[in-house]
Amino acid sequence: MHTPLIDRLRRRGYRLTAQRRVVAEVLEGDNVHLTAEDVHDRATELLPEISRATVYATLQQFTELGEVRELALDGRAKRYDPNVEPAHHHLVCDTCGLVFDVAHGIDAPGLSGADRHGMEMQGAEIVYHGECSDCSDRADDDKMAP
Ligand SMILES: [Zn+2]
Ligand SMILES: [Zn+2]
Repeated sequence: MHTPLIDRLRRRGYRLTAQRRVVAEVLEGDNVHLTAEDVHDRATELLPEISRATVYATLQQFTELGEVRELALDGRAKRYDPNVEPAHHHLVCDTCGLVFDVAHGIDAPGLSGADRHGMEMQGAEIVYHGECSDCSDRADDDKMAP
């Protein structure tokens, strides 16, 4: 079980203003991979006056603190992931962009010798690609349409 983002921020002594709290609340949960735009949309439901600039700046700060991971999957808009521990991989629907965490049992292969180019390895991320059941159902419906 991971510690909620808001608790991790609090533990670090991070000053949680109303705006920052709302951004942290919006990001809470499993399999949460929202774009900054999504975060802003949801944040305004909780705090109507929150500005886009504040949301972007707050996401930037959370990322710099290492409490949120910024993901660039597929050249789509960057996603923000509150699950930094344990490290996990992602499964992406290439059709609609739905992202799931792949958390268990998979270690990325290591690099050896010349493949490391003299670097110390710190980690690796795998992005799996697929099509979610909603998208494949939709594709089937299209095929059946006259
Ligand atoms: Zn899909
Ligand atoms: Zn994730």
